[in-house]
Amino acid sequence: MKASSVPGVSGAEDKMRIILLGPPGAGKGTQAKVLAEKLKLTHISTGDILRQNVSKGTQLGKQAIEFMSKGLLVPDELVTKMLTQRFEQPDVRQGFILDGFPRNIRQAQTLDEILKQRNMSIDMVVYLDASEPVIIQRLTGRLVCSACGAIFHTKNMPPKKDMICDNCGGSLYQRADDQVKTIKNRLAVYQKESAGAIQYYEKQKKLHRLDADEEAETVINNIIHLTVQYNDSPKV
Ligand SMILES: [Zn+2]
Repeated sequence: MKASSVPGVSGAEDKMRIILLGPPGAGKGTQAKVLAEKLKLTHISTGDILRQNVSKGTQLGKQAIEFMSKGLLVPDELVTKMLTQRFEQPDVRQGFILDGFPRNIRQAQTLDEILKQRNMSIDMVVYLDASEPVIIQRLTGRLVCSACGAIFHTKNMPPKKDMICDNCGGSLYQRADDQVKTIKNRLAVYQKESAGAIQYYEKQKKLHRLDADEEAETVINNIIHLTVQYNDSPKV
């Protein structure tokens, strides 16, 4: 039973805490943003938190830059510290969708500890399962605006003018790591890293797998369907 449940008040029981897992190109970021709006949850993205810390020049941001400037991944410990700070903010209390974290079992365990200290727990973990050909098609065609960060796709969502952002007129570019060879490598690393976290949530009976080769709208509707089912099911 969740403390926030108020019988008969619609939406009161919807303060869910959801994790979106899935390989790069599965659509986590896009889905999380739309879902957060539809379900009135706070979107927590470790990518955004990292960028904010860096742009605000926080102590943690400065430490992160040292790794990023060498082309290294920002270590677990640093990401966890930033995330812990994020959980101090009041908007987390309205429920949240977490995307980009945890990447491995150690992070999954740490997350449970952070939440436990704040009397919270994860309700549902959705694994966005996309196949390699679909991921490669999505990522190799991806175009990013250098000015506003908007994302386009050469085939799936082409800009109106070639290589120019529809939103702000900025120039579009392709990320250096969105090449077939690099993508295959990123996928292999992801599978290896994430296997433990996936098992961890399977054991907790919180994991739901969804076919993420489908159109974004279908995937989002399927996730919403899962949350409705969850809220309708009896809680112990
Ligand atoms: Zn733009």
